Amino acid sequence: MHHETTACSRNTGLVSSELYFWHDTLSWCGFFEPSLTVQPGEHFENPETKRRLQNLVQATGLWDHLTILKPAPAPDDVITMVHPQTHIDHLADICGRGGGDAGILTPAGRASLDIARLAVGGVTRAVDAVLAGEIDNAYVLCRPPGHHALPEMAMGFCLLANAALGVRHAQKNHGLRKIATVDWDVHHGNGTEAIFLDDSSVLTISLHQDSLFPPESGGIDMKGAEGTNLNVPLPPGSGSGAYRAAFEKIVMPALEAFEPEMIVIPCGFDACALDPLGVQMLSSEDFRWMTRQLVALADRHCRGRIVATHEGGYSATYVPYCGLAVLEELSGVSDPLPDPFHEHIKNYGGHDLTGDQNTAIDHARKAYFG
Ligand code: ZN
Repeated sequence: MHHETTACSRNTGLVSSELYFWHDTLSWCGFFEPSLTVQPGEHFENPETKRRLQNLVQATGLWDHLTILKPAPAPDDVITMVHPQTHIDHLADICGRGGGDAGILTPAGRASLDIARLAVGGVTRAVDAVLAGEIDNAYVLCRPPGHHALPEMAMGFCLLANAALGVRHAQKNHGLRKIATVDWDVHHGNGTEAIFLDDSSVLTISLHQDSLFPPESGGIDMKGAEGTNLNVPLPPGSGSGAYRAAFEKIVMPALEAFEPEMIVIPCGFDACALDPLGVQMLSSEDFRWMTRQLVALADRHCRGRIVATHEGGYSATYVPYCGLAVLEELSGVSDPLPDPFHEHIKNYGGHDLTGDQNTAIDHARKAYFG
């Protein structure tokens, strides 16, 4: 399966570090702390999913065509663009005592703050390289994830707001004015929303399974003072048809109207059909299609500038194929790898847009555009 002949039409950066896989989510089982009713086990957010994605990128040969970037740890003055010093101190305290819950449902091990700094540093490295024109776009294969992290609170497996810090870095240090985030993780991007809610310089878009996590978050009425926050809550069971309709009816028109100078994708794969934490229906082909739309839009509006940051996605077997599809589209690879799971997922049925899904999308559209 090695792609000897892989040719890419774009220069894509991949931020990678073995240390990302060393972020320790302790002996939590699923997302529960061990107790007399929960046997210690493996946390859903563990290295395997992401390590297997990196392995697949190497095994297919795509790795050899990417520009591999090494991250440096982000210092306090980068992190404090979003988080108060007290948040960093709190994380240092938890990690210094050997680890524990750093906030809400967020296990952290002894080295987790150091590795979270490396995740932020990976995103800023990607932003620097894209904006310097060294590469066209980039994917940051980092852990821990970031889109649930609030300025003063670790949450939902996220310690620091990776994507939001990348946005602030691009504004503060590169002078960008308008940036859009497009978050297709199955959970609501509540952290990114909270950070930029009333900031008209950042359009934050989140497509997510309705009312999944955080509870009572991600509704269509949450627009922000300037109307630059767009939530698209989709009913459980949404698949190819719903996501494509949401893109065509809302996401793309909102981006076209906003005219961003760069697009940041908090890129989760837990809306895939094999995920243990969500019940959406996407296949790698859907992630490929969504990426293709954003690449085309970025070519029209912002010289192709896209930085994707890895968020959720908990199927160790399937995330690698979804992630590979995104990387293949970002880099414009001429010979994408056939997805061995695609036929199986296609046979699930239920991929077509339903009336309920269409109604939900129309409501979100009406709430945003009026
Ligand atoms: Zn998620």
